[in-house]
Amino acid sequence: MHYVSTRGSAPALGFEDVTLAGLASDGGLYLPESWPSFSDGDIRALSGLSYVETAVRVMAPFVAGSLGEEELRELCTAAYGRFSHDAVTPLVQLDHRHWLLELFHGPTLAFKDVALQLLGQLFERFLSRRDDHLTIVGATSGDTGSAAIDAVAGREKIDIFMLHPEGRVSDVQRRQMTTVLAPNVYNIAIDGSFDDAQALVKAMFNDAAFSRRFNVSAVNSINWARLMAQVVYYFYAGVRLGAPDRAIAFSVPTGNFGDVFAGYVAAQMGLPVAKLMVATNVNDILHRALAEGDYSQGQVVPTATPSMDIQVSSNFERLLFDAGGRDGKALAEQMKGFEASRAMRLTNAQREGASKLFTSARVDADGMTMAMRWAYDAAGQVIDPHSAIGLAAARTVDLDPAIPVVTLATAHAAKFPTAVERATGIRPGLPSRVGDLFAREEAYAKLPCTFEAVTAYVAERATPRG
Ligand SMILES: *Cc1c(COP(=O)(O)O)cnc(C)c1O
Repeated sequence: MHYVSTRGSAPALGFEDVTLAGLASDGGLYLPESWPSFSDGDIRALSGLSYVETAVRVMAPFVAGSLGEEELRELCTAAYGRFSHDAVTPLVQLDHRHWLLELFHGPTLAFKDVALQLLGQLFERFLSRRDDHLTIVGATSGDTGSAAIDAVAGREKIDIFMLHPEGRVSDVQRRQMTTVLAPNVYNIAIDGSFDDAQALVKAMFNDAAFSRRFNVSAVNSINWARLMAQVVYYFYAGVRLGAPDRAIAFSVPTGNFGDVFAGYVAAQMGLPVAKLMVATNVNDILHRALAEGDYSQGQVVPTATPSMDIQVSSNFERLLFDAGGRDGKALAEQMKGFEASRAMRLTNAQREGASKLFTSARVDADGMTMAMRWAYDAAGQVIDPHSAIGLAAARTVDLDPAIPVVTLATAHAAKFPTAVERATGIRPGLPSRVGDLFAREEAYAKLPCTFEAVTAYVAERATPRG
């Protein structure tokens, strides 16, 4: 399988190179040059398979040429062996129509573990083949950071530098990052928003001198391997609810557009997806883009769902590319315009391409609270604020009531105990596997949100290219 950049001028690469590179050299994002296609028979053959076997079947075409099936199985077994539920991503029924797909049974209690536990395994495998070293630089609104750090802590060929917006992640989120005291882990609290931190990371990647010196890579969802790993649970859930013979809708609490784009990929591969609901909080750039074609960046408003407090959704570029006819040169121009003015209009082709599958909803704090209460009253489920945004949006979806609607439950309620307690009166306790989090020692640097300060900090500590 070869991968092409959304901006049309970076060279096509294989899966191994794409995984280690993260961002394409022309500033674009990698996508497979064509979508693998699963027949109804292929999908039917997934029924009853374990999560790991489903993962092997779904991902095999994407890694072809870089990993054999047996190697892929080995890496998936190691990655998903660390989940606390045997089904890895179990489904829970809320009422006749609504389901939760629980994605938070990994080590750091959010769905990002599903992708990052595998990415950690992939990095190690590919780096040992090349005898190379990797410097991971990432920005996190909370959950990516802890999941990435858990996935690579203590790995010899990797250093990780993780920027988080100071004071804008929950205590549990921060401690899950800052209490990992492995020598290859560096946490940095930035005086700014998540978008500021992400822009800084992008600037480091685009800095020629920096990337000559260090073999830098991304673990944000701009990394294709992460999206690929997330495609698996759409199939796993879809098959359990009747695919290929019944269509299924998914509602996805969305920030960087990674998770919901994985649903789009599953649909391109042949999974019968009736609708993908893009659920946003009041930081609603994606809702405005999908509903009105207006992709213009507003100010980030901090909410009870920090992992969705985003005004620039990196992976949206992948949809604009694929749904808009895969014209890399034109998209490069469009994105350049956006980067200059922080606003753009979607083309008609992009809007039409997107509207076939996507719909969207903006959910405010009241809507979130009501969804949390409803899940508890209807089915005794205590859900986290992000999942509640997804569920609130799911309950507005305009579809034949016979179609099951699956809300992706992206975090464990215990990651956001204060917001959950405010809505439901119940304070969720941490599962025993992370129980001593508040007793552990923390370590992190505090830096101003400037390119100079952060680059200097990383350059002093990272291992240069061999
Ligand atoms: C990251 C995250 C999201 C948003 O996912 P994207 O792939 O960025 O759209 C939603 N909920 C939780 C809990 C998250 O950690």
